[in-house]
Amino acid sequence: MNDTGTSCVLIIYTGGTIGMHEDPASGALEPLDFEEMLKFVPELQQFNIGIAAETLDSPIDSSDVGVGTWIKLAEIIRDRYNEFDGFVILHGTDTMAYTASALSFMLQNLSKPVVITGSQLPIGKLRTDGKENLISSIEVAGSQGLEGLKEVCVMFGSRLMRGNRTQKTDTEGFDAIESANFPSLAQVGAHILYKRHLFANADGEFQVHLGMERNVAILKLFPGIAKEFIHRILGTPGLRGLILETYGSGNAPNKVWLHEMLSEAIQNGLVVANVTQCNRGFVEQGKYGASQGIERCGVLSSADMTTEAALTKLMHLLSKNLSKDEVEIEFEKDLFGERTKYSKLV
Ligand code: ASP
Repeated sequence: MNDTGTSCVLIIYTGGTIGMHEDPASGALEPLDFEEMLKFVPELQQFNIGIAAETLDSPIDSSDVGVGTWIKLAEIIRDRYNEFDGFVILHGTDTMAYTASALSFMLQNLSKPVVITGSQLPIGKLRTDGKENLISSIEVAGSQGLEGLKEVCVMFGSRLMRGNRTQKTDTEGFDAIESANFPSLAQVGAHILYKRHLFANADGEFQVHLGMERNVAILKLFPGIAKEFIHRILGTPGLRGLILETYGSGNAPNKVWLHEMLSEAIQNGLVVANVTQCNRGFVEQGKYGASQGIERCGVLSSADMTTEAALTKLMHLLSKNLSKDEVEIEFEKDLFGERTKYSKLV
């Protein structure tokens, strides 16, 4: 808040379609710099909220996001935390859910909102969804104190969602980001209707954890997957964590060779977590014979976590100074609203 009691919001621009324009030579969408982008949103002058901006070194398509991007974002928020009432991150939609999930583990005990947004159409296009998403995000980020929202969220289309529950589910629609297993934190229409009972309410001192283990992988099962392929993935030198994307409620081929390979890898220190390929519902290991075997090998259940949340949670936990047992125990807990307790699922 500034001296006159007005909220202040920091916009952090990373790139993405929202800030792109069509390169006349190649016809491809390429990122604009932030100043050029702002020319398309004169409406920002009308806000009764102080707005400042930072950009990453050069704007990127979110396909180029990596751990380094998450660290930079977390550092900017850490370094400028006391200057602002909330933060808006402009980000491409392709990997938005990964960034939202990663930041939910990196920025702990927030006392103000971090709102990630982007758009399906560039902000300079006539029918753009970028203006509405940006304007609503600033309003949400600047409402701190009034609304009690203090977590990493994604604002997209008609919804404000918990960041670590989101997934990109549509390449076309304006509601391209969804939170399938957790209700929206607000419905965005003529009014922003907050559902305050769903907000995270961690207290404690704000902490930033920059560590993220990169030696992790995702293995998606498919009918006919070759034994040699799984063997090679499990034997990747240095691999510490694996997300196993299984069928339905957590099922995998009921094969002795698979169980032997998983047991050996897990005994040798690999942390393996079971995430369903379905984007609604949850993993229920033991429900079918086809999941009992992998459960016995020591594969962890991700319950109703998204792949994005499970992966980044594993990256976060493996970067801490924890034993394998501790990582496994923490993984199966709900840390920041990313998974529902089993008793509430059934
Ligand atoms: N490729 C773009 C990106 O993720 C797509 C988008 O922003 O919608 O950066």
